[in-house]
Amino acid sequence: MEQKKVIVIGAGPAGLSAAWTLHKRGIEPIVLEAKSFSGGRAYGDRVGGYCLDTGADFFCDSYDVAQKMCKELEIPLVKSEMNLGWHRNGRWHMTTPPVSFGALLTGVKTLWKIGLLSPRVLKMLFSVFRAGKRQPEFLSFASDSRVAELDDEVTFGEYLDRQRIPKFAQTSLLGFLEMTMGFAEKSGWAYMRTYIWEMFLKNALIYVPEQGAGSFSLALDDKCRNFIRCDSPVNKIEFENDRATGVVVNDQQITADAVICTIPGNRVSSVTPDLPNEIHQALDQVVFSTGVRVVFGLDIPPLPPDWHGALYPEDDTPLLLDRSLNLPACVPAGKSTLDMIVGRHRAAELIDKEDNEIIRTMLEDIYRHPPPGSNIPKFGEWEFARIYRWKDAVCMGRPGMFKNMIEVRKRLSQEYDNFWLAGDYMRIPCVNGALTSGIESANEAADRLEKTPAEQKSS
Ligand SMILES: Cc1cc2nc3c(=O)[nH]c(=O)nc-3n(C[C@H](O)[C@H](O)[C@H](O)COP(=O)(O)OP(=O)(O)OC[C@H]3O[C@@H](n4cnc5c(N)ncnc54)[C@H](O)[C@@H]3O)c2cc1C
Repeated sequence: MEQKKVIVIGAGPAGLSAAWTLHKRGIEPIVLEAKSFSGGRAYGDRVGGYCLDTGADFFCDSYDVAQKMCKELEIPLVKSEMNLGWHRNGRWHMTTPPVSFGALLTGVKTLWKIGLLSPRVLKMLFSVFRAGKRQPEFLSFASDSRVAELDDEVTFGEYLDRQRIPKFAQTSLLGFLEMTMGFAEKSGWAYMRTYIWEMFLKNALIYVPEQGAGSFSLALDDKCRNFIRCDSPVNKIEFENDRATGVVVNDQQITADAVICTIPGNRVSSVTPDLPNEIHQALDQVVFSTGVRVVFGLDIPPLPPDWHGALYPEDDTPLLLDRSLNLPACVPAGKSTLDMIVGRHRAAELIDKEDNEIIRTMLEDIYRHPPPGSNIPKFGEWEFARIYRWKDAVCMGRPGMFKNMIEVRKRLSQEYDNFWLAGDYMRIPCVNGALTSGIESANEAADRLEKTPAEQKSS
């Protein structure tokens, strides 16, 4: 095949999987990445012998594409449980993961204490459980998920109010989801149902590459290294007669036969002034939470024995995780890590502050209610500290977004024959959604480019 020039914008999971797919189809893409490193929100940092996840850190059971790619990249996945301490009403309660709905009913005392034993909550969980058991393809993050068909414009918060779920129970439900999601009450009920099914009710196991989710991005980066150009922010995608003709990077024009844009959905309008208003309006509905993560390298385990993490659903105290317990391959022998993660208002308040102020503020929040018997470090008592700031952290999957994005995809494929939008927001927002959309757009681009001009016209 005559060498075609395909530009992939962004080197997160969607961009990297698109680039690798194109390479496997005989096309050498050019990947333009704004930052000085690839991986996007799934970037894996390396500090001494430590493997740190800066953004994405776990895969769910239904991440079919991620699991398949891990096999291809020879990355072992570790099945992990999450024993979490919950801080409610001034006390600590320990939850171990329910491995079945029956097991969910055990630990009655804990469920009662954290507000999940109310009849209305049990009714809600039971209806999600039944739906997941009967038609798992609807409540799934897999590449063929049909969750978009449930996207009924209702937010999780509206649903909880309509069901008259008591406020105390709402705090537990929202607090758990907000540790990864930001403002979960504003996310779509369809999307949140999927989270609850996958994370609480299905088997409550998570899967993580043994050196962290970041090692997956690093392995993909390794496959694509020859095509990636870092420090290359795209300012504009150029179109002529409904065809993408190329991009502008640092005032320099690069022409292309096809363009796949994988940057976060809320940034797309600024680089595509020539796309129709309706597409921009749909993209304006794509909203991200803000997040800040601090990771310490430590000499002693920070949390009580067997605690994987600690959660404060009532306020903005950081979520705590000791990932070295589940993933010993991420730390040098005998060492530990502590991740402190904030979203919601706290992340927005902290994100522009100096490093030390962020660390001090987060630690002070934790010192107010440290887990019993924990060794939360005093300021400076660490081997290293790293701070990762995410202005666009997790796509919130607001109601209506899934259906809107299906329309955007349809319209682009009907009206533009060499331009694709890909990324987590184009499928189900998560690493698996990003990979699915990157691979599909790359395959569509390769199919089109393999056609002769006459075939392209007739299709
Ligand atoms: C704190 C945190 C925790 C998370 N936890 C999980 C988790 O546990 N499990 C999970 O599945 N997902 C998780 N996620 C979400 C997951 O990281 C994303 O779904 C995934 O990274 C999306 O991939 P993407 O390629 O669509 O976008 P991104 O990863 O955002 O990649 C987009 C790339 O485009 C680049 N870019 C932006 N603008 C331009 C431009 N103008 N020119 C060139 N390049 C540009 C960016 O620098 C970036 O590298 C988490 C995210 C965060 C931040």
